[in-house]
Amino acid sequence: MYAAEVLSQLRSLNWLTEETRRVPAGSSERGLLQAQIDSVRARLPQSILAHHDQLSGRGQVSVAAIRMGECGACHHPLSGPLLREVAAPGCFGVCPACGVFIWNADGPELETGGSVVRPAARRSALHRPAQEPAPARADEPAPPAPPSAP
Ligand SMILES: [Zn+2]
Repeated sequence: MYAAEVLSQLRSLNWLTEETRRVPAGSSERGLLQAQIDSVRARLPQSILAHHDQLSGRGQVSVAAIRMGECGACHHPLSGPLLREVAAPGCFGVCPACGVFIWNADGPELETGGSVVRPAARRSALHRPAQEPAPARADEPAPPAPPSAP
């Protein structure tokens, strides 16, 4: 199973688990949700499920999005190597602080360190007006002199 698939199944599982807390036990909706949970669980690797159950048992979600370089569940700042590891689409890691599966929701800007890239971009933007094109008019041939009248 591909990482992206595991991730998407895990997110479904978290959502479905959340939903079962909302609907009354024994209701037909609950039965439906449980059936969906069973089918999602059947598709997930045992090791991933075990990790999910451990977190779920503590009332935690098992997967969280990375926001601004932090774990979306516990806001622990994540290290550069870990961020690069999960930067590729469909890749995910594990938060070293709270243990949830983490995935990159910020897109490719995470790779560059987010805010670090901004001052540089601003500086180069400031340089641009200095390189104003030379006035093009100066290079143009002078307009022909009006023909002198005889
Ligand atoms: Zn965390």
